[in-house]
Amino acid sequence: MKIEIATLFPEMCEAVLGESIVGRARKAGLIDIHCRQIRDYSTDKHRRVDDNPYGGGMGMVMQCQPIYDCYKAVCDDMGCKPHTIYMSPKGRVLDQQRAIELSAMDNILIICGHYEGVDQRVIDRIVDEEISIGDYVLTGGELPAMVLTDCIARMQPGVLADESCFTDESIYSGLLEYPQYSRPEIWDGEAVPPVLLTGHHKNIKKWRLEQSIELTKERRPDLFEKYTKSQT
Ligand code: SAM
Repeated sequence: MKIEIATLFPEMCEAVLGESIVGRARKAGLIDIHCRQIRDYSTDKHRRVDDNPYGGGMGMVMQCQPIYDCYKAVCDDMGCKPHTIYMSPKGRVLDQQRAIELSAMDNILIICGHYEGVDQRVIDRIVDEEISIGDYVLTGGELPAMVLTDCIARMQPGVLADESCFTDESIYSGLLEYPQYSRPEIWDGEAVPPVLLTGHHKNIKKWRLEQSIELTKERRPDLFEKYTKSQT
């Protein structure tokens, strides 16, 4: 899978995507992620990418030309039209189901907005969907693009040790995950739940499921309702 990220701050994205599990996956060639500087495509002699909004108002708007030319360069390099996503608080809020669907695609372009956002005409021309990472507003699309990329990347074959590493997790499984414990058995007077030390896999599985159900019922009644419906 190939993901291109069009941004005014590629170093910011590289700093995140060069580290940890995603960084290792990139080095191992399990996923191809590339960041592009939108400014490199500006035809303005000062490499400007933004201007005042028509109709007045605060802030600047990212102009069509650099983004469109960046998009065309990505299409040429990929040899196809990628599924093009604009990170935006006006988009559909990201969830695991959409991330699963996106992780099955071959070519994705993610556009990061900044300032007041992007000229609507280029959005209408090239964007297939707008995705939000939640009902709050950030200064730019870079952090949202990192969230989306990480979420997609960890589901690529070989990135995590085993598929169960993400299928058994909160949300994906339909429930919130049970509590996790590691060494030592007793920390500052607090013991690990005894069942986890028995080595009795059936009982451990049962305990974990009970914990997941209780936690989900308490914290996410919406998920719990869906889960109980799926069990009948
Ligand atoms: N004026 C825009 C509005 O009211 O909808 C907000 C622009 S925001 C300050 C600048 C950029 O940050 C957006 O173009 C978008 O790319 C990104 N952004 C901010 N919040 C976001 C969110 N919750 N999800 C995804 N992207 C977001």
